[in-house]
Amino acid sequence: MKDARIIFLGVGGDSYVVGKQVLSSGGIIIKLGELQFHVDPGPGSLVKAKQYDLNLRENTVLLVSHNHINHSNDANAVIAAMTHNGEDKKGVLITNKTVLEGDEKNIPVITEFHKKCLEKKIKLEAEGKAGIGNVDIHATKTKHSDKEGIGFKFYTPNFVLSYVGDTEFTKEIAEEHKGSDIIILNVVNPGDQKVKNQMNTSEAIEFLKITKPSLAIITHFGIKMLSADPINEARTIQKESKCQVIAAKDGMVLNPYSYSAIIKQRTLNLY
Ligand SMILES: [Zn+2]
Repeated sequence: MKDARIIFLGVGGDSYVVGKQVLSSGGIIIKLGELQFHVDPGPGSLVKAKQYDLNLRENTVLLVSHNHINHSNDANAVIAAMTHNGEDKKGVLITNKTVLEGDEKNIPVITEFHKKCLEKKIKLEAEGKAGIGNVDIHATKTKHSDKEGIGFKFYTPNFVLSYVGDTEFTKEIAEEHKGSDIIILNVVNPGDQKVKNQMNTSEAIEFLKITKPSLAIITHFGIKMLSADPINEARTIQKESKCQVIAAKDGMVLNPYSYSAIIKQRTLNLY
């Protein structure tokens, strides 16, 4: 699985940034060899996939962490694109209870029709697990306004990758992401500007001091983050946490293997 790429179809976070599409919100594509994972398909997923020359027909798995619009809006459209609207029944959906079934206040995100287009649907709650090819996916806890929200930890043969999802900082959640080589962290606000149910720069520092990945990628930026400049905030987080930190950009493509520390660490583990 030496062929790996992470492509950001959108790094927008709050309703101001996403509402005006100052930054996009099409989620993240993770390519691991033959497998293609699409995480959190917010508004614009199809448009951004076309722009960045990605074929959503090749999605093996669609993962939706919770039912908020900026994470789930295009889920049905992506399923239709993956399956020729159900003519070619294929693909796996990994998601939480509210996306699949709704709750007392919300209808399900995925329509009954689109559920039938898929080969398999896997509903996970925190600590649940799913296996796709040689990749194991563990669902992690979140503390968010969708109480059933989850994060995803991908165990690949060569590295461990965390998508923490939308959550407040808690020590317990950080502990769950220990052992990840690469962590994708949703950091909505800069400095210590509090934002309910989400993380700011100061909390991202605390999170990374506990998890200590080889690389952290911050994304999901709000309007205040944009004013502060995510690159500056990434530098601050790197300095304070002593982890390598980069700020994601719309359309950014990252090859995990280009981060030599990760390869070195994993190679050493083989002996
Ligand atoms: Zn959310």
